Amino acid sequence: MTATEHSAELTVSTCPGCGLTASEADGPTPQEHLASAACWAAYGHLLARSYTDPVRRRVHQLIVDAYAAQHAGGTSRRQVQTVALCLMTLCLFIEDDVDPARGPVLHQQMVAHRPDLTWLAPPSQHALMTVADVLRADDAAEHCRLVRTWGRQVWQAWAAHHATIRAWNADALDRPSR
Ligand SMILES: [Zn+2]
Repeated sequence: MTATEHSAELTVSTCPGCGLTASEADGPTPQEHLASAACWAAYGHLLARSYTDPVRRRVHQLIVDAYAAQHAGGTSRRQVQTVALCLMTLCLFIEDDVDPARGPVLHQQMVAHRPDLTWLAPPSQHALMTVADVLRADDAAEHCRLVRTWGRQVWQAWAAHHATIRAWNADALDRPSR
């Protein structure tokens, strides 16, 4: 627990959401997610890959959803809604093989029904893959494969709430969109 000056890693941070241990970063921590600065910076690198490569972009929403679900923290109305919507689309991507590219449209549809979304107690997710694992992908195909594995692990971690999330989806999506 003491700072060791002879170590290459002077200070190590542990992400409160995913448990990622990394050299402490100076950058900001997110307001909407419960994450360390180092984890948040790694997430930024991962998102940047989505924006520069059309193949990686196809699983972009899966990254956003998995990250939000793995770093669920606050109980403000906005935070509760963000996590709930991300869990709803994560459910569809993993269980129903819905194309992650449809994520933004699905979120619009979900919000349009003014769903009664409630806070769900987040499970511990410190033993799962993290953004750092996905960043190790050598190419776009491996990137997509790792994102799906990570997303599946995060979804499984929320098993205690699966029934609730499926019910929200049924309620929000079974109705006509207008
Ligand atoms: Zn993290």
